[in-house]
Amino acid sequence: MLKILKRKSRPLGKDRTGIKVGIPRFLNVWSTHQFWVGFFQYLGVGKIIFSSETSEEQYRTYGKGRITMDSCYPVKALAGHIGELLHKDINLLFVPMIYSLPSFLKGHVLDTLSCTRVMMSVENIKAGFLRERDEFKERGIAFVSPFVPFGEPELLPKYLYEALKDHIPYLTLEETGKAVKEGFKALESFERRMREKSLEIIRWCAKNQRPALLVLARPYHMDPGIGHEIDAEFQPYGYPVLWYNYLPLEDWLLEWLFGQEIKAGIIKSPFDISDVWTSSYSSNTNEIIWGAKFAARLPWITGVIRLSSYECGMDQPTFTPVQKIVESSGTLFFKFGELDETKPAGSVKIRVETIVYYLDRYSPKIIEEKLAKLDKIPPEITK
Ligand code: SF4
Repeated sequence: MLKILKRKSRPLGKDRTGIKVGIPRFLNVWSTHQFWVGFFQYLGVGKIIFSSETSEEQYRTYGKGRITMDSCYPVKALAGHIGELLHKDINLLFVPMIYSLPSFLKGHVLDTLSCTRVMMSVENIKAGFLRERDEFKERGIAFVSPFVPFGEPELLPKYLYEALKDHIPYLTLEETGKAVKEGFKALESFERRMREKSLEIIRWCAKNQRPALLVLARPYHMDPGIGHEIDAEFQPYGYPVLWYNYLPLEDWLLEWLFGQEIKAGIIKSPFDISDVWTSSYSSNTNEIIWGAKFAARLPWITGVIRLSSYECGMDQPTFTPVQKIVESSGTLFFKFGELDETKPAGSVKIRVETIVYYLDRYSPKIIEEKLAKLDKIPPEITK
């Protein structure tokens, strides 16, 4: 889907409406897109265009033959996104090399790095468009790929200014700094709304004693061409689906779920994952582990759906710990691994029917047993 967004008023009087920015909807752009919208809107560019969601057709039409290395499918799919944007009305192709990520776990973990393939994907895929000739130059499109350490936000203005100063007229470091602040505001506001929605779902489950599912995956498995909408298959059966990266973080809720372990000295705070994961460098991995802990404790999450892509080296070491965390609480665990460009529609349908059978059968007992392990239900949950 193509998104053309309205421009906000701009602090300086120089016209930038002729700048048309294309951004591929790939990898960790899925968790940071609102930052980029807020950032470029503040700078007053004329248009921001995201590529479509990943699809087999996009990959076949624009991406195949551009791949210069073997990799997981989410990285390969970037070639389709870049190729598609080359056919749009843009003059600046902005493909961030995201080194580290914003994370609510920052300060509780060792780091919030992105997967190295996320960062390196940009240069690798770009090479496929330079192999025979410079396709960007040929189409009058500037390719801009700044280093983006979201984990050190104070460095962002410098890196983004350096990358964009030759492409955005009259840009200053100070203005870039203000645009970065606007970007974070937009991202935080979006995440707040998503977390509020999740809390609404949890409250509904609590009031009606109904089960829900939690998805543990990478943020880009929300892309229908990467995660194949497996989560959506459960909704017709009456199972609301939560995503680990937008869980509610209210103090009273986390105190209820993790308070006993904090008092017992097992963890230092609700965001502490050191009891189950010591090498907490990768942002998405840390949040997946935390999501597994949350799912294991929240009574109304009776099943976890784990998604993973073909050839994902980052997920491999987490499979067993995540499954153990979830299953040790009696919560059901189901994994859909090795996902690539083709949706395994038939086998997904059969598996979903089987999973729903188990969920229907065991959910009431799981809710009851998980409730019995916790203190009294906080009144805020049924508000
Ligand atoms: S985390 Fe896995 S799927 Fe994502 S870019 Fe890294 S290797 Fe690929």
